Amino acid sequence: MAVTGATELLAIWEAGLAQQGSGRALLLHRAARPETDPDVLLSVPLGERAADLFALRRALFGERMQVTLDCAVPECGAALEFELDAAELGAARPRVPEGGLRVAEGGWTVRFRLPCPTDLAAVAEEAAAVVEAEERKKEELAAVAEQAAGAQDAARRRLGARCALSAVRDDGREVLGEEDLARLLPEPVLKRFAEAAEEADPAAELALNIACPECGAATPAELDIAAYLWTELDAWARDVLLDVHLLASAYGWSEPEILALSPLRRRYYLELCADA
Ligand SMILES: [Zn+2]
Repeated sequence: MAVTGATELLAIWEAGLAQQGSGRALLLHRAARPETDPDVLLSVPLGERAADLFALRRALFGERMQVTLDCAVPECGAALEFELDAAELGAARPRVPEGGLRVAEGGWTVRFRLPCPTDLAAVAEEAAAVVEAEERKKEELAAVAEQAAGAQDAARRRLGARCALSAVRDDGREVLGEEDLARLLPEPVLKRFAEAAEEADPAAELALNIACPECGAATPAELDIAAYLWTELDAWARDVLLDVHLLASAYGWSEPEILALSPLRRRYYLELCADA
């Protein structure tokens, strides 16, 4: 793990400001594994990227992660605060059997690989339609709910088709090509693929269930370590720029000079400025 200095981290943050979620996740992943080719990083299983990002989180900000969310019961809405351990969460690496995940179901024999960041980007459009419809679903329109289900279905089919390494039907015919696979793969095969992928790569999606101390209900949540780490980096970067501004104003030092100070010295000088 290369622990990056303040100057490099600020450069990563600045590059990420112009990016969306997937671009920011790649920037962070490159900071975690600077020696690995970016194309390789985009094709690792999702749980492997998560483990790399948890390791980066530990190196930059420590092991204890504070998470806050609202209780899912609308009448309650209590703030749920809890702590997660980055070392514990980053310990699970994906395990794929030799030859990929094999699913034999309903007259099909399909070998799959695990989904990777490139696959997520490819189904992003469908996935965004799901999120958008889910948000509008609060209006309780049946048509919107149907739209969400349709988009979710399309995203799942696209993902299954992309991850299929080979697909043979029981008459011996091989089905090739993403479009045909997305159209033809039966529902039970896709379901078995999802189950096999979750078992082989449990850290790909981190599902949490938080019990509310006020009402007792459990609130489901997903922890996206890339988004979490980006939010932390963003707050850190803004704090550092404020420090630079204050110290530059007080002492006339340049940005590189101030960033070269250890965080401890920077804090002492800031305290002296505040006392003055
Ligand atoms: Zn509650």
